[in-house]
Amino acid sequence: MDLNFKDITTIGFDADDTLWVNETYFREAEEAFTALLEPYETKNTIDQELFRMEMRNLELYGYGIKGFMLSMIESALELSNGRVSQKTIAQILDLGKKMISHKLELLDGVEEVLETLSKKYRLLVLTKGDLLDQERKLKNSGLIDYFHHVEVLSDKKASNYKRLLEHLEVETSEFLMVGNSLKSDVLPILELGARAIHVPFHTTWVHEEVQPEEHSNTHLTISGLRDLLTHLN
Ligand SMILES: [Mg+2]
Repeated sequence: MDLNFKDITTIGFDADDTLWVNETYFREAEEAFTALLEPYETKNTIDQELFRMEMRNLELYGYGIKGFMLSMIESALELSNGRVSQKTIAQILDLGKKMISHKLELLDGVEEVLETLSKKYRLLVLTKGDLLDQERKLKNSGLIDYFHHVEVLSDKKASNYKRLLEHLEVETSEFLMVGNSLKSDVLPILELGARAIHVPFHTTWVHEEVQPEEHSNTHLTISGLRDLLTHLN
């Protein structure tokens, strides 16, 4: 494990479930969706069908709430054999709108950590999701001034990071990524030869889960964002 961060000049932060709560609202919406569709199928089948639909549509819609809303509607049509009522469709749309307009909840210590680190490092936000939704959240977060650059990526593979770092003229040897997803924020970064710190959130979307044997041991895992100050200050 490389605990030496002395060459780091630039730190990339994931946003959802790293700076603020996100996955929790998806879980809540999924539960509400399941309750709406219970007349047609079992909870298990509804869960599985929705996830399958999200995966099938990911390439078409990308990440974010709007794609999730469309997948819920399509799943509702399939699970009910087209019998789902207009009222239920309207309720599903409301679930999505409620997610989009949910009050932003910053995670513990975020402001303090960013304020401190921004004095010494160049900070970036690197996130997936809907462009408009992420821009709205950043604006509402009051954190925007701590960041030199914000990038909403369509995906977080090594190639996406590589292109961005080249564009920003940041060497991989001076870059550190911080995020809650091993799959999106840690593994592709290690693949590039940059460094990563994993800050797990209590809930992880199944799509973002990786098996332990799939990742190497060369990143650092911390239990909360505040721990960054111990390693980087
Ligand atoms: Mg995240």
